[in-house]
Amino acid sequence: MRSSSEQGARTVRAFLEDHHLELAERVGAFAAGEIAPRSEPADDAEAREEARRLAGLLGAGGWLVPIGEPDLRACCLIREALAAASPLADAVFALQALGGTPLLLAPELDRAAGEPSERGHDVGAGTEFAARWLSRILDGSAIGAFAMTEPEAGSDAASLTTRAERRGDEYVLNGRKSLISNAGIADVYTVFASTDPAAGSRGISCFLVPAGTEGLRFVGPQVLSEPHPLGEIAFEECAIPSEQRVGPEGRGFKLGMMTLDRLRPTVAAAACGMASRALAEALRHATQRRQFGQLLGDFQLIQEKLGRMAIALDAARLLTYRAAWEKDMGAERITLEASMAKAFATEAAQRIVDDAVQILGGRGVLAESPVDRLYRAVRALRIYEGTTEIQHLIIARHLLEDATTADSGSEGPA
Ligand SMILES: Cc1cc2nc3c(=O)[nH]c(=O)nc-3n(C[C@H](O)[C@H](O)[C@H](O)COP(=O)(O)OP(=O)(O)OC[C@H]3O[C@@H](n4cnc5c(N)ncnc54)[C@H](O)[C@@H]3O)c2cc1C
Repeated sequence: MRSSSEQGARTVRAFLEDHHLELAERVGAFAAGEIAPRSEPADDAEAREEARRLAGLLGAGGWLVPIGEPDLRACCLIREALAAASPLADAVFALQALGGTPLLLAPELDRAAGEPSERGHDVGAGTEFAARWLSRILDGSAIGAFAMTEPEAGSDAASLTTRAERRGDEYVLNGRKSLISNAGIADVYTVFASTDPAAGSRGISCFLVPAGTEGLRFVGPQVLSEPHPLGEIAFEECAIPSEQRVGPEGRGFKLGMMTLDRLRPTVAAAACGMASRALAEALRHATQRRQFGQLLGDFQLIQEKLGRMAIALDAARLLTYRAAWEKDMGAERITLEASMAKAFATEAAQRIVDDAVQILGGRGVLAESPVDRLYRAVRALRIYEGTTEIQHLIIARHLLEDATTADSGSEGPA
């Protein structure tokens, strides 16, 4: 039987190169053979230990390498396969990408700002300090994290209040970050803080803060129903050398948004992975379970559900790989395509997983059932890296800007 990632790759064949098909097969086999059989952590403490082990496993297998390469489609294929096998393994991949991508993209902003950027490192990060951490994130020997959200700054991330005050050759950080994945287990945090509160989003800068830095404190876990290391961290007079700034001062918010732009299609891919696993479980059940003297799959009400699930999954995959393909083809920004993919795929996956639970009936809500785990895991995808509502606002803003430009163009001189 084909793995979910191979099936997905066939659906979006038009957006892939030959080496992607080979990757889909390999990563599908890895996820089915080495990730899926691992048992789900029983609680938050176990999830934290398991996340560390998974980071090592993904690093050793070379699965994190594409994060550092201009191959977003490869990242999507990997997340799709991991998410189908284990939402926690997918989250581990996602956080290495979120923590590492700002380091990868910073030199672009350095160059635009005319700042000297130490180039020539294998992995392309701006400073030697950043390059060292990026290599470790990509080989799985260090766990990354992306610390933007605060108790009072969620969707409105530009309103963050964590302060990074310049004092001589150092920045001193003070503030609190909330809902941070890998809080407490990360080796290094990519942190967004304000260097100039009066400048709003243009006063936000990005920093790299290793765990263990004096003044950085793990406040405690925020426990989810689907095991996933999440928590709060605080900065209390946390002094770091200016070399640990990532990208130009005041360009941190832009760097954060560029990172989300790049990674939202991979969230969509994870949603496709969870949805395809749910559909597979539903199909397996519908072809085995008999009620009223016939297989569930023989009932038209069940067939209608299966048909709807399959259409939504293919549509989600097409939007996902369209966005990743655009990026790989050299598009500078894919904001619109990434938001469409993320909004559609995560909403569709939620409905597909819910339908799968319904088809499995009582068995679908048993804690040991794969679809119950997916049901708990899929929900957060509609929230993190920008909620569905925020994606809709981004899409509408693009449409309205285009419409306004078109209008003003027609009124202008020929
Ligand atoms: C599992 C998980 C992992 C996470 N990991 C990280 C991480 O690693 N790093 C990090 O920085 N953050 C992380 N987050 C935080 C995440 O990015 C935020 O939860 C998200 O941005 C939403 O912010 P909020 O929770 O404060 O909700 P709010 O912003 O308070 O929004 C609440 C509701 O209001 C809606 N809303 C808000 N503004 C508008 C508007 N203008 N129009 C219409 N509706 C609106 C939202 O869509 C949402 O439905 C994580 C969250 C989760 C659940």
